[in-house]
Amino acid sequence: MGNYDVTIIGAGLAGLQCARFLARKGLRVLLVDRKNALDQKIHTTGIFVRRTLLDFDIPDDCLGLPIKHVTLYSPALRSMEFVSDNDEFCIGRMGQLYQRYLKQCLLAGVQWLPETSYLGHSSTDSKLTVRLSTGAVTTRYLIGADGARSRVARDLKLDLNREWIVGVESVFEGAVIDGPPRLLCFLDPELAPGYIAWIAHDGEETHLGVGGYPSRFDPSAALETFRSRVAHIVDLQHAKQIERRGGYIPVGGVLRNIANTNGLLVGDAAGAVSPLTAGGLDPCMRLSALAAQVVGEYLSSGDPEALSVYSGELFRARFTSRLWARRIASTLGQRQLLELGCAVLRLPLLNRLARHVFFGRGSFPDVDAATDFCGSPG
Ligand SMILES: Cc1cc2nc3c(=O)[nH]c(=O)nc-3n(C[C@H](O)[C@H](O)[C@H](O)COP(=O)(O)OP(=O)(O)OC[C@H]3O[C@@H](n4cnc5c(N)ncnc54)[C@H](O)[C@@H]3O)c2cc1C
Repeated sequence: MGNYDVTIIGAGLAGLQCARFLARKGLRVLLVDRKNALDQKIHTTGIFVRRTLLDFDIPDDCLGLPIKHVTLYSPALRSMEFVSDNDEFCIGRMGQLYQRYLKQCLLAGVQWLPETSYLGHSSTDSKLTVRLSTGAVTTRYLIGADGARSRVARDLKLDLNREWIVGVESVFEGAVIDGPPRLLCFLDPELAPGYIAWIAHDGEETHLGVGGYPSRFDPSAALETFRSRVAHIVDLQHAKQIERRGGYIPVGGVLRNIANTNGLLVGDAAGAVSPLTAGGLDPCMRLSALAAQVVGEYLSSGDPEALSVYSGELFRARFTSRLWARRIASTLGQRQLLELGCAVLRLPLLNRLARHVFFGRGSFPDVDAATDFCGSPG
């Protein structure tokens, strides 16, 4: 039975980020994932926003060409263009990025257990026994980076995500779209109820996806319909589908109770996703950096007070306007209403608001700890 300071369940972006930071602090870290290879069953389109690209060490060769053009389509496919002066987005080559971060984890001394499922845990004295499909380990602290429907959160008796949208997408090589790399967003209450359908195109990779409330649509059927509806915008005749991705996206805002003396949650497990845009990569990076700092302090001091800054309550205020926007978005079920909404977005004030949603720098509260870790790829 192995013996670790920290056991992390889940090697998505949140788990990998946490693992490499904790190992660099000299802690004995075990990283566990049920997948056998990290470039399989990816749960994200991988669109990184400028703020993340500026603040964190994402290697250039794991990113596509920068995107500064966004086109918003109404349900009747009337389009509106937004162009930024800056490079706003890059589509991550996520399989490659996960592998790169895993390599950094291994170099920092992380023990890696692929093809291993977390089954549960029990606590005795100051140690936890973690039951895994490949055997049991003991650990001083447990981190749930196991995604939107976290089993670790339930076992630690922390808060659970309760509101989701579902996203599904196809990834193509060789698709043709006129003009520079761009992000195309489609409002459509049938194909994407409560969210959007999207095409993210950086000249090399093209992602076609739909997202929405699971009770209101059939994602796979909607994706097929979407694909034929945008055939005049994206030419897939000579394109090759290289991947299919999908998953649950928690949109209820960061959870309140995300840490206790046995463990804590990061990434989707903590609900760290923007309720409005459903962007989770920036929150993953920031919250995981903070988690690593907090866990390091807690394990060296043994003082539960060290965990008090790791509270969703402290972050939720920042999400208030986005939570309201999500509530409104979830009720916009009529085509005519959405069409009207798109028409008024042409008014200068609302146009500025739309630009702010696409190009604003607010995604997740600034976490001081993050700056300690940026730019240190190791
Ligand atoms: C279709 C889609 C598109 C998206 N696009 C974007 C985007 O473009 N930009 C953006 O910012 N956000 C996007 N998001 C949200 C963002 O991708 C997520 O917030 C982020 O990837 C979450 O990372 P994570 O590490 O918390 O979880 P995940 O990436 O889900 O990783 C969880 C890991 O835990 C493992 N695991 C789960 N249970 C167990 C278990 N019992 N035992 C062992 N291992 C386990 C899983 O195998 C997985 O590897 C998208 C989400 C979806 C679903």
